[in-house]
Amino acid sequence: MDNNLNRRKFLQNAAILGSGFAISSFPHFSLASWQDGKPAILGGKKAFTGAGSAWPIFGQVEGDGLQKVLQSGLWGRLNGSVTGNFERAYADLLGAQHVLAVNSGTSALTAIMGALDIGPGDEVIIPPYTFVATYNAVVLNHALPIFVDTDLSSSQIDATKVDAAITTNTRAIMPVHLGGTPVDIDKFIEITKRTGIPFIEDACQAHMAEWRGVKVGNHGLAGAFSFQSSKNLNCGEGGAVVTNDGNFYKACSSFHHQVQEGIDKSFKDRVGTRSTNLRITEFQSSILLSQMTRLQDQVQRRQENAFYLDSLLRTIPGIVPAKQYEGTTRSAYHIYMFRYLKEHFANMSRDQFIKALAAEGLACSPGYGPLNRSEYVQSLAENRHYQKIYGKPRMKQWLESNACPQNDILCGEQAAWFMQNMLLGTRKDMEQIAEAIRKIQKHAAAIKKAV
Ligand SMILES: *Cc1c(COP(=O)(O)O)cnc(C)c1O
Repeated sequence: MDNNLNRRKFLQNAAILGSGFAISSFPHFSLASWQDGKPAILGGKKAFTGAGSAWPIFGQVEGDGLQKVLQSGLWGRLNGSVTGNFERAYADLLGAQHVLAVNSGTSALTAIMGALDIGPGDEVIIPPYTFVATYNAVVLNHALPIFVDTDLSSSQIDATKVDAAITTNTRAIMPVHLGGTPVDIDKFIEITKRTGIPFIEDACQAHMAEWRGVKVGNHGLAGAFSFQSSKNLNCGEGGAVVTNDGNFYKACSSFHHQVQEGIDKSFKDRVGTRSTNLRITEFQSSILLSQMTRLQDQVQRRQENAFYLDSLLRTIPGIVPAKQYEGTTRSAYHIYMFRYLKEHFANMSRDQFIKALAAEGLACSPGYGPLNRSEYVQSLAENRHYQKIYGKPRMKQWLESNACPQNDILCGEQAAWFMQNMLLGTRKDMEQIAEAIRKIQKHAAAIKKAV
């Protein structure tokens, strides 16, 4: 409905209502503010006028770096020095002893699995609320992924439920710092100390996140990072293993480089009995070095905006920003996660809420589906290799024990996400996000009927 039509309709209604509702009796009334009060999905004006932020952000520095690699003719990491420079710079940034750059976040997880010699018969504990790569890294090794349910308040794996999932076959515990916010790391450190089972951080979304002032990736035996296009540090495709264990670094390096002589030339020993090629190129490392010149500012900006958005959204009943555990000194805010409680929105469904936000100019995602319930994951119970390795009864039992009721609630009706680049906008952008949600809440009953 265009503005003129709205205006005409309003004047008609005002006339019907009679003298008590004359425009002149509202001194501050303006057509614009009246329209602002109405959700865009019902014909009102969009609340969000900000541009957000395009992603990726790049310029001269990226171009110059790429040209330099191109002209050098040294395009692979075995020839050039750019990857080594990146690894040292990233290690310094994280305060870690060793960084091994690889060609994706999945490759980082794969190198870690390889260095741990994870294989058939082994179990690896993972969350059901994650990108499928976490699961794939386990299944590619014919190990059994064991799901531990989600803590609804944080959207992270529930650390208090990990002990119950440990068996004599558990070879690794691999939580994910989802959305760039740390899991309850102290509890994982305690578990790994008590049981001796390695704690691996899937930090693929958590560049620069901190737990008690120490960057994530440093708390377990190793951490995996992703530099895929959507991630907060991005070179299209890329990844890194971070560790403070020299021998484990050697094992990862050897695994990712066909058990050839060590990449850092300081060791020549073969480590392990399996390996592959997961090497990164100099072009990718060059972009990473360039992007790192922007990283600190972006981390700061996301955090400031997220804190401000938290303060605004906490005043709206039914909008619950994800809890961060005590010990979190910084989230990377790859995702701004919150829960939508429909009982505060006239029982309007989450889909309708997201549609209403889209009309306001805001991209909001319902987040991941329940991985443990997906056809892809469930079909593992029927896989002939798995049935041979574990036996049919065990695979049937595995399928039955995969239930994660809290995660079902989160995925099914509550989760809502804004992505990191929205947090690179202005303070006013944050105010407009809150304004859009307030409008939608006020008119929820009408939207529920109309959409
Ligand atoms: C992105 C991501 C990965 C995989 O990284 P790629 O670089 O895409 O291979 C793994 N785990 C999580 C949680 C991720 O978000």
